[in-house]
Amino acid sequence: KQLRENLTYELFGTAVRELAQTIADDGYEPDIVLSIARGGVFVAGGLAYALDCKNLHLVNVEFYTGVGETLEMPVMLAPVPNAIDFTDKKVLIADDVADTGKTLKLVHDFCLDHVAEVRSAVIYEKSHSLVKCEYVWKRTDEWINFPWSVLPVVRKSGEPVTPSKEAL
Ligand code: 5GP
Repeated sequence: KQLRENLTYELFGTAVRELAQTIADDGYEPDIVLSIARGGVFVAGGLAYALDCKNLHLVNVEFYTGVGETLEMPVMLAPVPNAIDFTDKKVLIADDVADTGKTLKLVHDFCLDHVAEVRSAVIYEKSHSLVKCEYVWKRTDEWINFPWSVLPVVRKSGEPVTPSKEAL
């Protein structure tokens, strides 16, 4: 079995505070935190509170899945945020992991045309990522188990539980 990087909810709490500290120490004060759903929502919420930024936006990006397969490129799902709201703002993109980096690149390029400045913060970055994020909590090349996706879907008590595919 492949080695895994295991993030617990408890460790996530530490990670998001330390990531925020790095951003604050760097003097970056974002006007907007832009989260990439769904994994980036946890990170974005934690960073927005820690950095005292009340302007939190969300984009939905998926590696479009056919029959258990991903397409070559990720796609931004509707509703796409109104670019006008971003004009001349300092944006912080937040996600769980930059793996191939394709998801972050898509959102980064979307922002570039409109905003004053855009930087990215992730908990994990893999060495082959085509995007190099300004703020990274930890580097790894292992598959990461995130606490929000490794646990089974919650069913009514007593009904059978299906283990998450990621837990296998
Ligand atoms: P990308 O390859 O575009 O950088 O990553 C896109 C998304 O795939 C990530 O935001 C994350 O949701 C998922 N992903 C990529 N690598 C991993 C991993 O190691 N573990 C888990 N659980 N999800 C991952």
